Amino acid sequence: MDYKVLYRKYRPSDFSNVVGQDYTVKMLKNAIMNDKISHAYLFTGPRGTGKTSTAKIFAKTINCENLVNGEACGKCNSCLNFNSSADIIEIDAASNNGVDDIRELINNVKIAPSEGRYKIYIIDEVHMMTQNAFNALLLTLEEPPAHAIFIMATTNVESVPITILSRCQRFNFKKIALEDIKNRLAFVCQNEGIKITDEALSEVSYLAEGGLRDALSLIDQLSSDGTEITLDKILVNYGSISSVFINKMVEALENNDAMAIVEAIKELENNATDYKVFVKKLIAQLVQKAIKIKNDPYSQKLSYEQIKNLIFDLNDCLNKVNVYISPFVLIQLILLKYINKDELKNQERMPKNEINGESKNKESQVILEQNFGNEIKNSDIQTTTAETFSNDYEEEMIEYLNELKMVRINNCFVNAHKKYLTYFQNKFQEFATSDIKPEIKSLLIDAKIVLASPEIVVMAVSLESTVLLINRKILEIEKSLANILGENIKLIAVSEKDWNEMKEEYIKNLKNGIKYEIIDEDSLNELKPTEENALEEIAKDLFSEEKIEIID
Ligand SMILES: [Zn+2]
Repeated sequence: MDYKVLYRKYRPSDFSNVVGQDYTVKMLKNAIMNDKISHAYLFTGPRGTGKTSTAKIFAKTINCENLVNGEACGKCNSCLNFNSSADIIEIDAASNNGVDDIRELINNVKIAPSEGRYKIYIIDEVHMMTQNAFNALLLTLEEPPAHAIFIMATTNVESVPITILSRCQRFNFKKIALEDIKNRLAFVCQNEGIKITDEALSEVSYLAEGGLRDALSLIDQLSSDGTEITLDKILVNYGSISSVFINKMVEALENNDAMAIVEAIKELENNATDYKVFVKKLIAQLVQKAIKIKNDPYSQKLSYEQIKNLIFDLNDCLNKVNVYISPFVLIQLILLKYINKDELKNQERMPKNEINGESKNKESQVILEQNFGNEIKNSDIQTTTAETFSNDYEEEMIEYLNELKMVRINNCFVNAHKKYLTYFQNKFQEFATSDIKPEIKSLLIDAKIVLASPEIVVMAVSLESTVLLINRKILEIEKSLANILGENIKLIAVSEKDWNEMKEEYIKNLKNGIKYEIIDEDSLNELKPTEENALEEIAKDLFSEEKIEIID
């Protein structure tokens, strides 16, 4: 059989067919046309980007007797005999272990070319040469014969001795752009009569990671059974997660579409996808996003900080997976953490096209972010996850916290006095500026102590959404207060609006002789939802602020 693998068959034969290396090609052509060819070139860059092919085209063109616009004519003796020419010496340093072979080849450099103008050495993976071979090469490069040209290629330029580097003209081969690969693949498939869907073309281009050779090898494998190449076929064969899927995930994050995230994670889990592949791909996509945001911060829906934190959380989750929780639950929790809670709630309640409502929410979010920075979303974790996993639980929790608020404020009114108020206002100042968790600090930044008894302190904040966030963490805040200032008191937050109403009612009641009496807080215990502790533990496990290790 004379089947030729695609990447060999479609190896470019002249400069015009080299894909994605326009600058290098232009410079090499100029050198030939201006007759300014140097004795040593080094082509560096990732695998499959066209280094060796370009080296061969360059060699062929240099020796062509009848140049046409900087391209080899393909008709002269030199061109026709190129593949068997004794003047073209190809050395693969990676496979050639005989050090002496290489040395001997290089030592023969003084012998004049048999046919063409130049004797050209193409040394692939030059960094693999031994020290002895490098020494022989270096000697030659110091005083090269006029007819000798060395074209070296490497994927690992760091391993090439500086003494060699300094004697070469260097060209960096870039990873080939996705679009360029896709266009080339489309051309090859059409030419070969290989049926492939557009989605599949995109996916293969994506999987090739900038290397055209890998892309063509993939097409070879996928087309071997003669059936059409579809996205499903690729995913089944390579256990891959499509870039389309990853992009949809990022879009869902940007649009605060919690349901889309939940659905997508379910799909991954049902397909028994490798969660590590998913997390790594998502991180890669988010890194691209972060770079875009740095370039143009105003065009993006997510902030750089958000994406950075999300990347760290995802990376962290790769180390946190254990036998108790499915990795997909962790991933879902993390993703939902970045959903904007206010918008999420409204998505459920109003039609999507209610632009006014949406922009109002954006506005309140801007205020939230101005007041609390990005910490607000980190502290929002329990809120968001609870909401998605169990709406019942969430409703119970809100109800319980509301009751707790009413009871504590009532009880505070019973023994409130201005002297306690002043005392705790001062204490609170101290607390807020002490070394507390940044998350708590940012929550309390806007809080004002408005009422105090010896046992209970009431603080007012401007936004209703913050009230819930603070009261959810009230135990933690109380503990922190006790640790830092030695004050064992109960705290509760209320919105400024509610507080003003309650104050007025209190004054009215006072005038009417209605007295406030202590209500036993324990009577609320049966209202308290039970999932609380479990969820808090999960959240703690997930988002502890350990050192972040970057994955490979
Ligand atoms: Zn020619």
